[in-house]
Amino acid sequence: MTIPSQPATTQSHHATLSAASNRPSRPVLLAVLAHPDDETFGMGGTLAYYSRRGVDTYLVCATRGEAGDVDESLLHGFQSIAARREAELRCAAGKLGLAGVTFLDYRDSGMPGSPDNHHPQALVAQPLRQVAHEIAYHIRRLQPDVVVTFDPIGGYRHPDHIAVHQATVRGMDFASDPSIPDMDGLAPFAPKKLYYQTIPRGFMRLMIRIMRLLGRDPHKFGKNKDIDLAAIADVDFPIHAVINYRAVADIRDEAAACHASQSSSSLTGGAFTWLRRVIASKELYIRAFPPSTGKVERDLFEDILELPPLRRL
Ligand SMILES: [Zn+2]
Repeated sequence: MTIPSQPATTQSHHATLSAASNRPSRPVLLAVLAHPDDETFGMGGTLAYYSRRGVDTYLVCATRGEAGDVDESLLHGFQSIAARREAELRCAAGKLGLAGVTFLDYRDSGMPGSPDNHHPQALVAQPLRQVAHEIAYHIRRLQPDVVVTFDPIGGYRHPDHIAVHQATVRGMDFASDPSIPDMDGLAPFAPKKLYYQTIPRGFMRLMIRIMRLLGRDPHKFGKNKDIDLAAIADVDFPIHAVINYRAVADIRDEAAACHASQSSSSLTGGAFTWLRRVIASKELYIRAFPPSTGKVERDLFEDILELPPLRRL
């Protein structure tokens, strides 16, 4: 894997700009993701935790999850899958305490090989530079201290997740590059940190063992049976930050309940929910920028800001 580094000039841009620009007074966290539900199932604990520690927590979501499989009965009252999933995301955003949600208005590309890959609006059919430019625009607009996105394999190799990862990495460079002025007059801005959220391997391996015990195939996981858990568990990433969200686990679960169209079978609910709550309640990150010193952080704002204590629920 490669963890791209930022140009050496990035930090100095920020140092000179932060004093001069209209920097928000509250700390800011920006998550750049692909579909409604990524904000909850991947990093909902982290987002809920920081929004309750005085951080303005924003989401940029590239698509509305149009290619997701949604039960007919759940489409009642909605014009489309996109409308249903957007409503679910807005419900979850309210629970997680997000300060704002922005859609990039691309279309869900579906899993590899699906006809959705070739839709003209599919995220994976867009030039990377264009998507990166849009993400850079939102970085300049929101001025986040910390940016989080998917890991280099997009968590479970979803093509949209990988595209968002790559566009966010490039977008970080564009946002701080003063030679790219064409963004509504917004000044260049360099976030202080960039993290990639990654799925806990230990938990995944435990799930694989349980699936095998139950006679299920770990190569065919998920509602659409298109996730190869066994292949994903084989990829090892270094873990640079661990966010323990046990104190806000109830909120994370309320947000998960908003995504009724994407919650499935007993495999993702029931026993696994219990296991996650009891054993896990942790979300893991690779620190892409600045490069990790080897220490495992317990706070994404460590070394840059002192946050207020967790607000009582
Ligand atoms: Zn997704």
